[in-house]
Amino acid sequence: MEDHRKTYLVLPQYDAGLLSPEQLEQLAALARKYRIPQTKITGAQRVAFLGVDPEDMTALRMELNIPETTPHGLHRVHYVQACPGRTWCKYGHQDALSLGERIKNIELEGPLPAKVKVGISGCRFCCCESWMRDVGLTGESKGWRFTFGGNAAGRPRIGDVVAEGLSGDEAVTLVTKTLNYYLHAARFKSRSARFMERYGIEALKKAVLG
Ligand code: SF4
Repeated sequence: MEDHRKTYLVLPQYDAGLLSPEQLEQLAALARKYRIPQTKITGAQRVAFLGVDPEDMTALRMELNIPETTPHGLHRVHYVQACPGRTWCKYGHQDALSLGERIKNIELEGPLPAKVKVGISGCRFCCCESWMRDVGLTGESKGWRFTFGGNAAGRPRIGDVVAEGLSGDEAVTLVTKTLNYYLHAARFKSRSARFMERYGIEALKKAVLG
């Protein structure tokens, strides 16, 4: 900010960029009410209110139903990106939006060691950059391909293929099993990319497949 005044970022809790007309109207009304200087669609398909006045934080969060602290800590994935998938895109092989909803609601056995970002693409064009997410799911004609350990940050990494040809139910089960394994085996703050560099895909497969 030009005047160097401290302001905050508020992220309304909508995943995968899905917003109804009513939700869009509510966001616009709140942006006006709280004089939000800038709203932004983030790279993670979320809406951000930028430059929020510190005095407005509590009231704005309450109006957006954002809890003061995340109710489950890191017991859930950080965010889920999902493309329109076969419901809305002519190239889609699988239903990315429905799978995204299910992955978002996975309950884990404990807190995750670090952020887990999920990218779900309905076909191999990979619009949600599934190879570069901790959990990547890509729709193919024979089912879902599940990759783990991708990262797009300072030390980028392509995720390892854990399994292919999965049904939606099998994908949810295997992602849950993999994340539970990761949360028990990884060091605190170890992102999945660094964890996979140490453990290797064969060790992971041995632990979660079969
Ligand atoms: S990944 Fe495939 S299905 Fe999804 S939006 Fe891109 S082209 Fe369409």
